[in-house]
Amino acid sequence: MEERICRCNIPANLQKQEMYEKIAEYIERLDPEQCVADAEYERRLGICNACDSLIGGLTCKYCGCFVLARAKKVTQNCPKPGKNMWL
Ligand code: SF4
Repeated sequence: MEERICRCNIPANLQKQEMYEKIAEYIERLDPEQCVADAEYERRLGICNACDSLIGGLTCKYCGCFVLARAKKVTQNCPKPGKNMWL
């Protein structure tokens, strides 16, 4: 499968700590109305962390998104073909 790059414009070639900081900054800039509640965010991340489609603990192999960013957004879902794991 072709590797995808997250569309949140966070560069994929940063050191891990810098990547986490950029993702945190990205989440901070989101409109609160775009964000799920903390409990839902943690629930989604727990599912991703147990998923064999999570690459390097950061990105989903199906969409290329940083799951820390994707899971925060109300309008996003799990892109696993045939099964939204977050439901
Ligand atoms: S978004 Fe879905 S397919 Fe991707 S890592 Fe998370 S649970 Fe797995």
